[in-house]
Amino acid sequence: MSMIIDAHNHLGDRPGARQTGAELVAKLDVAGVDKAVVFPFVEGNFTNDFVKNAFDEFPDRLIPFCAVNPWEANAAEIVRHCITDWGFKGLKLHPTINGYHLADPELVDPLFRVADELGFPIIVHGASDLFNSPPEFALMAARFPRVPLLMAHMGFFWAVEQAIDFASQFDNLYLETSRAPIFEIQTAVKRLGPEKVIWGTDSPFVDYEFEFQKMERSTPDLGGYGSIVGGNIARLLKL
Ligand SMILES: [Zn+2]
Repeated sequence: MSMIIDAHNHLGDRPGARQTGAELVAKLDVAGVDKAVVFPFVEGNFTNDFVKNAFDEFPDRLIPFCAVNPWEANAAEIVRHCITDWGFKGLKLHPTINGYHLADPELVDPLFRVADELGFPIIVHGASDLFNSPPEFALMAARFPRVPLLMAHMGFFWAVEQAIDFASQFDNLYLETSRAPIFEIQTAVKRLGPEKVIWGTDSPFVDYEFEFQKMERSTPDLGGYGSIVGGNIARLLKL
């Protein structure tokens, strides 16, 4: 089987939440996970320095993604700097916490244009709340067809059906499974096939081993399972 890769983890130290690179790598070791995509917490003022330092410490285990607040005037430059100077592999956005619509052309298109130019995926909080409902993802997937776009939490709670519909319509739109219940994940795999579903945990906000073990029930097809828990994200990241 290909590598096992967790596509959604936060590193940093902010009021109420903390996770270091070493703490996450210890969880990967216990669960039997090869690599983890990591990005900052994005509440308040944040930078990508903590993630950069953790990546320097564990370059073979961590896959760093940049996070930015598009309201910052230099957001696109920060993304370009993370990717080209620091070797980061993708971008994380959280429209709800930072207060903007994912499909806002003025704020968000400049970031997607950098992804289109440099060729990296974007993962976005997608729990069907105010600023990042599935139609916002569909608008961006249509506007930037070459940018792989991952909907974190796959539209759970209220919009899983809509998320699946849009993921079936856009080749570049993927559903990420963190915190979604297993029945909804099984439904997505049945309707879309395993190539459009990507495993992530959202650590440290979860029971890590449970978030991994639930995926054993995502599909009876062993090859498909390998795609979901690592093969798909490896392909998007050209690992
Ligand atoms: Zn998260």
